[in-house]
Amino acid sequence: MLASDLQRYKEALQEKKAEILRQETPPLGSGHFSAGDFGDQSNENHDSYIGLRLRQTDGKLLRAIDDAILRIERHTYGICEMCGEEIPEARLRAVPWTRLCVACKEAKDAKQD
Ligand SMILES: [Zn+2]
Repeated sequence: MLASDLQRYKEALQEKKAEILRQETPPLGSGHFSAGDFGDQSNENHDSYIGLRLRQTDGKLLRAIDDAILRIERHTYGICEMCGEEIPEARLRAVPWTRLCVACKEAKDAKQD
């Protein structure tokens, strides 16, 4: 892969990472519970539950992005971990943090189901 391509993927990964980290920042006023108003309280619980689920997903994604940036620095980026073939550019552009080509990803997903 060309160094300029690698640089582009690295920038895309860092941008995505920054985007997730921005979302991690709690909005102003969150964590405030208005005592005595059960309506408000249940809404806040609902929001924090969704927030927790998002954070878990983002945590996984952040690790995958960090791994991908590491692979760029080690010059192993864009190589499928399962079959050792190059991952097509179209797939890298869609999912720059992927470590598997489409065929291997589908094989892996099928096994997990
Ligand atoms: Zn593969």
